[in-house]
Amino acid sequence: MIPKNEPSFRQSVDMMFNRAVALLDLSPGLEQKIRVCNSTYTVRFGVRLRGQLTTFTGYRSVHSEHMEPVKGGIRYSLGVNQDEVEALAALMTYKCALVEAPFGGSKGGLCIDPREWNEQELELITRRFAYELIKRDLIHPSQNVPAPDMGTGEREMAWIADQYARMNTTDINSRACVTGKPLNAGGIAGRVEATGRGVQYALQEFFRHPEDVKIANLAGTLDGKRVIVQGLGNVGYHAALFLSEMDGCKVIGVIERDGGIQNADGIDIDALRDHMIRTGGVAGFTGGTFIKDGAKLLEEACDILIPAALEGVINMGNAARIKAPLIIEAANGPITAGADEVLRNKGTVIIPDMYANAGGVTVSYFEWVKNLSHIRFGRMQRRQEEGRHQLLIDELERLSNDKQLGWELSPGFKEQYLRGAGELELVRSGLDDTMRIAYQNMREVWHGKEGVTDLRMAAYLVSIGRVAASYRAKGL
Ligand code: GLU
Repeated sequence: MIPKNEPSFRQSVDMMFNRAVALLDLSPGLEQKIRVCNSTYTVRFGVRLRGQLTTFTGYRSVHSEHMEPVKGGIRYSLGVNQDEVEALAALMTYKCALVEAPFGGSKGGLCIDPREWNEQELELITRRFAYELIKRDLIHPSQNVPAPDMGTGEREMAWIADQYARMNTTDINSRACVTGKPLNAGGIAGRVEATGRGVQYALQEFFRHPEDVKIANLAGTLDGKRVIVQGLGNVGYHAALFLSEMDGCKVIGVIERDGGIQNADGIDIDALRDHMIRTGGVAGFTGGTFIKDGAKLLEEACDILIPAALEGVINMGNAARIKAPLIIEAANGPITAGADEVLRNKGTVIIPDMYANAGGVTVSYFEWVKNLSHIRFGRMQRRQEEGRHQLLIDELERLSNDKQLGWELSPGFKEQYLRGAGELELVRSGLDDTMRIAYQNMREVWHGKEGVTDLRMAAYLVSIGRVAASYRAKGL
């Protein structure tokens, strides 16, 4: 939650937008058109549960329709309100533009604590909420395509897809009305891990540029870097897992709802996640020291801090005490505009949310395309590719049997080379490419345009430039 004495989340996003847009030569009219949220629909609906009628409040906000459909998750949380969904919808616009996902920005939310309701009740509530949105084309394959967000996942998306199909029985593209569905309901391999995977790819790309790493007062590769993660939900869990298992990072701190866990030798992420699933929290985990005031861990010394939970967790109250030289915003809006300024002045490098957590919407884009094309990625070409690879291997093997040449294939090469790419490999390759290119676009502006002081400003400039170009192309 954003502290009371600081600007609201939406105001914070606007302030960051304003800093960047000042460097562009847009007409004031166009600038305003891009900044404001086009519409926010509020719905209050009743569902009969536990013998009585309960009223729920939900929102779907559309920030920009410069491209359609508009895209963005649906969040279930008691903190949901109009200001929050509007801020998140704006971030979706910039995020999609930055990673070249051809969507406008949108976001939805339902004011509910999902842990208070059982699965059957949640299905009734979700279907009713979806019904209200579908009726108004606020869920629609070519108009508005939701996805999971905090408090929602594959299960809710499957209910939404089914609700849409029931109400649009002849729509052949009905599955494209929502992304983040389970595989058996039209989902795509690699969507659940996508945002965390994107955080990993973003950091890998950052560390491919030694000049940028130096600005953060760091050196070398990701190997051995000390990481603190806030929030071990879907995004934080996958990011922490991949970074520790594949890049040699040491996760020395994890912050959760009920406290934090600290271990200078590195925390076993899977063991901690299992413990959380069993007990509902991190307290009692034996693989590290438990700290009651988890938020204090944000201020511990580390190389990379990954806020992966709520907005506003780094604010004017703690920004000056944050020691991490590099912060990657896996959550949306974890740093308030005020804290952003404090950190910038300290020289902290911040890899901004609209880039860092764009892996989710990127893979959502692939899922949407898969749904519209009605075919799994790789289905046509995989065996043909394998056949061609086999030809080459046969030839190499024939040559390596020639004792006179005296060479042989490296162990494992044949198996690795022969394997054609399935859907998961293609999704990962597409995501990796997207994260690399978007970073390179940002850093070109960061280092190349006068007046640009940081990556967030650069990200806004790239995005706003693209949104402005599509408005101009429409004659606005
Ligand atoms: N909720 C995610 C986000 O904030 C994913 C959105 C999507 O896939 O449309 O980016």
